[in-house]
Amino acid sequence: MTMTNLYSRKFPVDQRVYAAKGDDPYDNTRSVLKQIDLSFLKHKRVLLKPNIGRLAPQGQGIITDARVVAAAIDAFAEIGAEVVIGESPIVGVDTFEAFETAGITKVANDRNCKLIDLNEGKYTRLPVPEGLAIQELKACSPIFEYDFLVSIPVMKMHMHTGVSLSIKNMKGCLWRRSKVDLHMLPPIAGMEEKPINIAIADMSGVLRPHLSIIDGTIGMEGLGPSAGKARPVGVVLAGLDPFAVDAVACRLMGTVAEKIPHLAMGAERGYGVIDPDRIQVSPDHWEDWITPFLPPPENLSIEFPNIKVFDKNSCSACQSTLLLFLKRYRKVILDYFPKDQVIRFAIGKGHESVPETTICIGNCTANIGKTNTFIKGCPPVASEILYEITGELSVDLLDGKSETPD
Ligand code: SF4
Repeated sequence: MTMTNLYSRKFPVDQRVYAAKGDDPYDNTRSVLKQIDLSFLKHKRVLLKPNIGRLAPQGQGIITDARVVAAAIDAFAEIGAEVVIGESPIVGVDTFEAFETAGITKVANDRNCKLIDLNEGKYTRLPVPEGLAIQELKACSPIFEYDFLVSIPVMKMHMHTGVSLSIKNMKGCLWRRSKVDLHMLPPIAGMEEKPINIAIADMSGVLRPHLSIIDGTIGMEGLGPSAGKARPVGVVLAGLDPFAVDAVACRLMGTVAEKIPHLAMGAERGYGVIDPDRIQVSPDHWEDWITPFLPPPENLSIEFPNIKVFDKNSCSACQSTLLLFLKRYRKVILDYFPKDQVIRFAIGKGHESVPETTICIGNCTANIGKTNTFIKGCPPVASEILYEITGELSVDLLDGKSETPD
């Protein structure tokens, strides 16, 4: 196989999706995997790609449950495959520290399963022939050394992309900071859709997993991917068409794949199937397990009282910075402003003017008015905003590690 067709083979594949619900995520995962014939993977090399993109412990809906990963290792090892686990986390996060914090190191060591930092070594240029927002990706080279790639995301709402499931999780196969590039694309002429969503649909044309296992043990609702609320569902899904598995996960979360731009666009291009009439889900009563998630808020000003955000054509990178800053430090900065004053922030490109004393975040806001506070960076990180406002350096251990979007 050449590296381009390894992850872009044409569908249709089998559109069956298997679901299991119960208290034990290990058992749920074994239960769904035993229904899929994976015997052809004997002596093959299998790469498991969970979502361990952030430094986070289990149980918050931020990262994949280690018990789901443990079950996947065991299932592939029993088939006779060589199994490894790989990840390329968001900028600033050390891969092995993230594995350790997530409990992945322990389950891997217990099973003699190798852990791989996908960022090691160089990247491989991956052409995107049908791309509208991107024509090439920088993919982590190690992924091309494997015969079969398994995407194992945690079930999340996502403030920029609607949901984060097995297609979106493949963004963690992009090399280092090139992940952030997808959040900083200019608008695409003639298309109203956000460039990040078009870019993920583009990516799914050349970088699709061969199998998806979705961890719905504890998902995340609202302000995903990292600032939302944990939502227990107790379900694991698996199937060979990642679009079909993502579509079923969407239903479980109380939305539909047709409303998720990257899934709708990818399916329209024939990369997979989201039409419920073409997806067979087992068991028949799976819809009893639907657990509606709160959607991500459309506007940060709604989420944070006394905060007004002037946002014009911003990238999701600056949105993430501001969101996580507000989530962590809103209460801290209240002491630095008169009581009841609305605190104003501006992000994005092309503002003609904003009210005086607005806090302008990111290089694009460099020249909006002389009386504003300006924080340079593309994007800046939360500690820099905090320092400009309070003069205090952050002591938050997560600071600088989670502002970049995944
Ligand atoms: S400063 Fe922010 S809005 Fe401007 S290009 Fe950089 S990330 Fe995008």
